[in-house]
Amino acid sequence: MSAVIVVHGGVMAKPEELDQAFLDGVKAAACDGFEVLKRGGSPLDAVEAAVRAMEDNSVFNAGHGAVLNAEGEVEMDALIMDGKTLSSGAVCSVTDIANPVSLARAVMEKTDHVILTSRGATQFAESIGITTVPTGSLVTECERKKWKKHKSYATVLNEEYNTQWAHDTVGAVAVDSVGNVACATSTGGIRNKMAGRVGDAPIIGCGGYADNISGAVACTGHGESILKVTLARRILLHVEQGKSVAESSQLALQYMADRVHGAGGCVVVSPSGQWAATITTKRMVWAAVDHDGLWYGLDPNERFNEQLTL
Ligand code: ASP
Repeated sequence: MSAVIVVHGGVMAKPEELDQAFLDGVKAAACDGFEVLKRGGSPLDAVEAAVRAMEDNSVFNAGHGAVLNAEGEVEMDALIMDGKTLSSGAVCSVTDIANPVSLARAVMEKTDHVILTSRGATQFAESIGITTVPTGSLVTECERKKWKKHKSYATVLNEEYNTQWAHDTVGAVAVDSVGNVACATSTGGIRNKMAGRVGDAPIIGCGGYADNISGAVACTGHGESILKVTLARRILLHVEQGKSVAESSQLALQYMADRVHGAGGCVVVSPSGQWAATITTKRMVWAAVDHDGLWYGLDPNERFNEQLTL
């Protein structure tokens, strides 16, 4: 079996003129992650590399480019999970950290805990030599303008979620050639969220999950809805019952729509290398690399293929 990586760059809140930048960003991130797998790196290394690439790319709502909360500050959430051992690490409401996914990995590998929040997460980062960046340096000019324009959270929900538009959280899932899986997520959350609000992205079983028995999932969309239906775990429950990853994703996303009127998207891989990128929003930018090369898309049912020299 060949290794596979699938990444997403969120369910898209930015204008269409940025489509190409989004597509280029997810394609580059998927290729970075796949390179890691090809060199013999673990799925955990691959998803971390892919998510770091998107955190460093200011077009995405993660790391540099994260959205601002109601107080005009960046507060980010991230998660990483290893399907072999179910080891996981997460950070919530962190500020001034350029790559929250790597801090989440350090929580997993270097502490006795699974989740660290805000001040404690920063103290831990500093104690292990992950330096903080100057306050404000993760904020883009574009985000500052949008934040000034959309002063209330309700406006954001009306204009973006109710019309099935959300934000540009990032996520990745990967499987190696022997069926080990991993997932990672990273986000600035939803613009104008209350200070201290934590979404689905860092919560195990909601924004992501990885288990070598069934597969790995990374979600995006309305965090409060995803939390209520434990979306990532729900998708894998369907996989455990024998459904394909594509059907499992559709069933769980539809359940979220029916039960709590929430929209979102997800990327999934199974230990046997099946994969899917599925949405109930209008759009989600995603890319995958498997034995057939590079796949990518943005609008529903879009699936373009480019050959790669693998
Ligand atoms: N799920 C993220 C959150 O609610 C946002 C997103 O994926 O667009 O924080």
